[in-house]
Amino acid sequence: MKTIFEKSNNTEGISLTDENEHLEFLEGAELRKDAIGLPQLGELEVMRHYKELSDKNFCIEKGFYPLGSCTMKYNPKVNELLASLEGFVNLHPNSPDEYSQGALKLMYNLQEALKTITGMDAITLQPAAGAHGELTGMMIIKKYFESINDNRKKVLIPDSAHGTNPASAHMCGFEIVPVKSNDSGQVDIEHLKSLLDSDVAAIMMTNPNTLGLFEENVLEISKIMHENGSLLYYDGANFNAIMGYTNPKLMGFDVVHINLHKTFATPHGGGGPGAGPVGVVEKLKEFLPVPVIEFDGDIYRRNYNLKNSIGSVKAFFGNFGVLVRAYAYILMMGKNLKEATENAVLNANYIKEKLKKYYDLPYDVPCMHEFVLTGERQKEKGVSTLNIAKRLMDGNAHPPTVYFPLIVHEAIMIEPTESETKEKLDEFIETMIQIAHEAETDPQKVISAPHTTPVKRVDETLAARHPDLTFKE
Ligand SMILES: *Cc1c(COP(=O)(O)O)cnc(C)c1O
Repeated sequence: MKTIFEKSNNTEGISLTDENEHLEFLEGAELRKDAIGLPQLGELEVMRHYKELSDKNFCIEKGFYPLGSCTMKYNPKVNELLASLEGFVNLHPNSPDEYSQGALKLMYNLQEALKTITGMDAITLQPAAGAHGELTGMMIIKKYFESINDNRKKVLIPDSAHGTNPASAHMCGFEIVPVKSNDSGQVDIEHLKSLLDSDVAAIMMTNPNTLGLFEENVLEISKIMHENGSLLYYDGANFNAIMGYTNPKLMGFDVVHINLHKTFATPHGGGGPGAGPVGVVEKLKEFLPVPVIEFDGDIYRRNYNLKNSIGSVKAFFGNFGVLVRAYAYILMMGKNLKEATENAVLNANYIKEKLKKYYDLPYDVPCMHEFVLTGERQKEKGVSTLNIAKRLMDGNAHPPTVYFPLIVHEAIMIEPTESETKEKLDEFIETMIQIAHEAETDPQKVISAPHTTPVKRVDETLAARHPDLTFKE
C-alpha cells in the first residue's frame, strides 16, 4: 500500500472561495511563501486511504484475540457512548467540586463498587494502568514501613510473575528475591519459608497465577507472611477469573491493583489509556494518593488533605474516560459479573481439553481463565512457538501471548475470555489442530507464515530500537 504522500495528486482538499481572504490579518513577512509539502488529496481519497489502513489492523471487533494475561474481552459500545457524554467530555478538571458533582459521584460509586468486589477498605482510582498500580501499591507499602520505623528492604516475587512486578518493587528501592514454583506450577511454600526474615517487606502475588492456576496455599502463605510482619500485594491482572467467587481480602492480601482495562472491559492495547485502581486494607488507608474522593452525605469532594499520603500519582481525575466505561460495565453486569467469571473459566478449560492431544500441556490440571501450552513437541520439527503464533494470523486469530511465563519453554498462553461463542472457540481449536498437523507434515508452511497479512515478518528488535516514522522521498 502506498503512503498518503505517494498518493498525493495535487487535488485541493479544501474549497475556500478566496484562498487569501482569511489570511488578510497576517502581515507579508508572516505569510508562507512556499508549499510545506503536505499531501494534496480530495476528501474522498483521504477517507479511503485511512479506511484501508484501518482495515489492515487486527482488533477484537474483527476476530478472536486470545492474548493470555491481557484479557482482550469485548468492550460494549454503549460504554463508548456513555464515556462521550458531553458533561463528562467537556468538564474541565480544574472545575470546583460543586460544578463536578456528576463526575465525582461516578468516581465515588465506582470506588464503592470496587471495595465490594475486592473486599478492600479503601480505593484510589488514580493509577493509569496495572504497572502504575503496582508502583503506587509498593510506594504505599514502603511508606507504611517507614511510618513504623521498620527499614525492610526485600520483596519476594514468584518466578512465574509478570515482569512489571519486580520492576515496580525495584523502582521503590526494594531488593527483589525470587520464589521458586513447585512441580504443580504453584509457589513453593518451603522455598518461601526459607527466604523469610525480618527484612522481608512484602510478597507480590498473582492469583490465579500467570499459568492460570489458583494458588491453593494462599491462606497459609498470607498467614506466614503476616506472622513475619510482612504485607501481601495482590496483582489483580487475573481478577476476571475469581470475580464474585472470592476476593483478595478473603485470601489475606493487604494491597491490590485491578486492571479496569482487563477485568472490566475497557479498551486497551496500542499503549492506549487504561486504569489500575489500587485497594488497601484499613491500616494502609492513610497512605493513599491524593486526592481521595469523599462523600459527606451532601456533596462529593476531592480531599487533598491526607497527612501521610504518598502524594499524587496522576493528574486530575486519572484516566476518567476509562473509569466511566468500567462503571457502566459493572452496572450493566450486576450479579452477572460472576457469570462472566464462570464463562471465562469454562472457555479456557474447553480449549485446553480439546488441544492437549496436539500440544504438550505442562500442567495438566483444571485451569482458571487461561492456560499455558508448550510448543516443545513442534520445536523438535523445527517449528517454534513464534512460528505457530505467526501462522495463527492466517487463521483470523490474533496470536496468543508467547514465551511467557518464563518458567515454561516455548510457552503459548491462551485466554479466550467470556465473550466468545462456542462456535468461535471451535474455529480457533480447528486452526490450532491444523497448525499442529502442518508442523508434522509441512513444517515450512508454518515457519514461513504468515502468508495472508499485509506485512509478513518484521524485525521486531529493529522496529523497537530504530523506529522509522517519517516519510522521505
Ligand atoms: C497486564 C499485567 C500487568 C500489567 O498491567 P498493565 O495494565 O499492562 O500495566 C501486571 N501483571 C500481570 C499478571 C498482567 O497480566
